Amino acid sequence: MTSLFRPALSKMLPYTPGEQSAPGKVIKLNTNENPYPPCPAVVKAIQEAATGNINRYPDPMATAFRHAAADALGLPGPEWVLAGNGSDEILTMLVRGFVGEGEKLRLPYPSYILYRTLADIQGASWEQVPFNDDWKLAAEFGETSDKLKLVLLPNPNSPSGTIVDQEEVAAIANSLDCPLVVDEAYVDFANQNCLELVQQNERVMVTRTLSKSYGLAGVRFGFLIAQPQIIANLAKIKDSYNCDAISIAAATAAMSSQDWLKDVVAKLNATRARMETKLTELGFHVTPSHANFVWCQHPDGNHQSRYEYLKANQILVRYMQFPDWGDGLRISVGTDDQIDACLMMLERFS
Ligand SMILES: *Cc1c(COP(=O)(O)O)cnc(C)c1O
Repeated sequence: MTSLFRPALSKMLPYTPGEQSAPGKVIKLNTNENPYPPCPAVVKAIQEAATGNINRYPDPMATAFRHAAADALGLPGPEWVLAGNGSDEILTMLVRGFVGEGEKLRLPYPSYILYRTLADIQGASWEQVPFNDDWKLAAEFGETSDKLKLVLLPNPNSPSGTIVDQEEVAAIANSLDCPLVVDEAYVDFANQNCLELVQQNERVMVTRTLSKSYGLAGVRFGFLIAQPQIIANLAKIKDSYNCDAISIAAATAAMSSQDWLKDVVAKLNATRARMETKLTELGFHVTPSHANFVWCQHPDGNHQSRYEYLKANQILVRYMQFPDWGDGLRISVGTDDQIDACLMMLERFS
């Protein structure tokens, strides 16, 4: 069959997101959502937006959100923020903006494979630089190279939950001659971030999402923090009304609820510590996590059968396999009851 599509699309493989299930029955620990409901102020903002001027187009630049985000994060001003329909849309804008056909982006390995899909769509290539054994970045990660136009670093990383120190990120950014995007989808669960670097170097850009720590994966809202001239140019790429009025209202209220965020993160991090201890007792090798999930590997290598056993018992975790690297289970931090059920089933597995 001849393809109607551009050659780049015809030969690419689709990106497969984590399984979604009908709500209720299944304990869902596979896509790093927050198991707790969002802040009540956010729910109220959604209700008000739905009964407000919903016949009107939303604010194309999500101005109220940009102010709330700049205040919450201590940024110089709202012009340092760009809102997106999930941080995945922000990543799409960045790849469209910086990486053309025949050019190249770089990512560490193993990490977030959506970046590869975004390169494929552009007709660009991607290059994976393996992490060192201790989840530090190899020196090549910061090397300049012909046609390299963008470097992406999930930090904390998925699936490992590990974090690269701010000083190391700064050194990499300084050695590159293209933008370095630090994908901070999980940073609220960690004890450091790279916002400071954005003010020091226009080539450092940080993406954030409301899908994980804020408990708003269903709303679809993410954002970019970058210097104002970068934001202004990227805004040319976005759909005119890329965020809807309901999600803007939700995200604005969420950014203004930092005390709620602090509490929910403390609760999830306490559950994470308990998970790490128990998984270690069960014989797993557990990578200390700075995110809302735990990456674990058992010396017996039976990861896929554990995944299937859990699934048969209505518990969904993520089985991940990385060619030339290895496999393991990535388990999202759920409520204490959900995690107890999961740990009990793993204990029973034999
Ligand atoms: C979940 C995730 C995102 C996507 O977040 P959305 O805002 O829901 O699109 C981005 N990067 C990484 C590394 C993630 O795990």
